[in-house]
Amino acid sequence: MNSVVEPRILQKRPETVDRFGLASTWERADAQWPSHEQRTLVCCRVLDETHDVRTFVFSSEEGQPLSFEPGQFITVSAEIDGQTVSRCYTISSPPTRPYTLSITVKRTPGGVMSNWLHTNMTLGRTLSAFGPAGVFTPSAGPARKALYLSAGSGVTPLMAMTRAAFDLGQDRDVVFVHSARTPDDIIFAKELDALSQMSSAFRVIHVCEAQGEQGGWQGPMGRLSLDLLRARVPDYQEREVFTCGPEGYMDAVRQLLLDGNHDPARYHQESFDFAETIEVVEAAPEEASAQTCFSVRLARSGKTFTIESSQTVLAAARKAGVPLPSSCSQGICGTCKTTVLEGTVEMKHNGGIRPREIDKGLRLMCCSRPTSDLVLDM
Ligand SMILES: Cc1cc2nc3c(=O)[nH]c(=O)nc-3n(C[C@H](O)[C@H](O)[C@H](O)COP(=O)(O)OP(=O)(O)OC[C@H]3O[C@@H](n4cnc5c(N)ncnc54)[C@H](O)[C@@H]3O)c2cc1C
Repeated sequence: MNSVVEPRILQKRPETVDRFGLASTWERADAQWPSHEQRTLVCCRVLDETHDVRTFVFSSEEGQPLSFEPGQFITVSAEIDGQTVSRCYTISSPPTRPYTLSITVKRTPGGVMSNWLHTNMTLGRTLSAFGPAGVFTPSAGPARKALYLSAGSGVTPLMAMTRAAFDLGQDRDVVFVHSARTPDDIIFAKELDALSQMSSAFRVIHVCEAQGEQGGWQGPMGRLSLDLLRARVPDYQEREVFTCGPEGYMDAVRQLLLDGNHDPARYHQESFDFAETIEVVEAAPEEASAQTCFSVRLARSGKTFTIESSQTVLAAARKAGVPLPSSCSQGICGTCKTTVLEGTVEMKHNGGIRPREIDKGLRLMCCSRPTSDLVLDM
């Protein structure tokens, strides 16, 4: 008699070493593709996810493996209407599949890069990208129990973490609550449902604001609320929370978790909107009065320029016409991370660099001001 194949894994796995949240698991990432290094990626697949979201799969030009941490992003650049345009996109594929790398892009109405990618990025076309950056990764809050909260395209870093955990064969206790406008807007719906069938420790809850054209949505309706969280994830206070989505969504999530007595120290978020960042790192005009001038030398290219003590290295380089890799200009994205070989700077960042990187001599050029002459590893 044929036996029936049961898709859901009901037996608990034996305890394995939980490598997922350890920075050392992903440590080789920085070494193989530093965030300040631009590479050419070749588009090898394009997938329609929803009516306005596409995944673009790339391989490196040389076919080499690409390394990164789940949750990190790359900064892509393209010549669009005679201008070089750069934007950050989270790597939605996991580092456990290193020969390709995906970004999943939602069309922004009127947006330059997202529409350009949707229209122009086809099989065989190339795209320049700076290496992986960002600290919204599992090692930001290693924990056995996690709650992933995302909305819209904010699903991408959490999807990379989910795929990586499954690929590592780790039955992580994760509840993934994703909010979408309508059922048709849910990104990765089928894959998430399939993954939740594979592990009883992984639960997916989709919340839709409206029925949309199709109708018939049986799941939770409206916006994510504390009542919904209490009902569907009663142990949410015990979970490390990772959140990504539009600014308004994240504000609401932060507030509802505070109202629900979730420990803020166990809350991690990624913003896709640099403009919303609170702290501005450019010098205030009054600070610019008592200034000292220093010199900056780029060790590899041999270029030099002068810098005032009130200027960031990035601002001085731009003024001198020396292009440095950068994106957010606010100490968040990490694209301008560079080793200071000689000299000292004062850096005021917004989370775009890790303590272990600072210990290694790396600094973010967009939020570092000189306190001596500098030699940089670029
Ligand atoms: C760390 C990080 C990770 C990200 N990951 C993802 C991801 O995985 N997937 C994803 O889809 N997005 C992601 N983003 C967002 C992405 O970087 C882009 O911001 C997004 O795709 C929009 O870019 P765009 O060039 O299409 O739009 P932009 O050209 O930047 O336009 C954005 C908005 O501004 C308006 N606008 C543009 N120019 C003007 C003007 N001159 N005057 C008035 N209004 C104007 C546009 O109409 C549009 O509404 C991420 C962002 C960050 C910071």
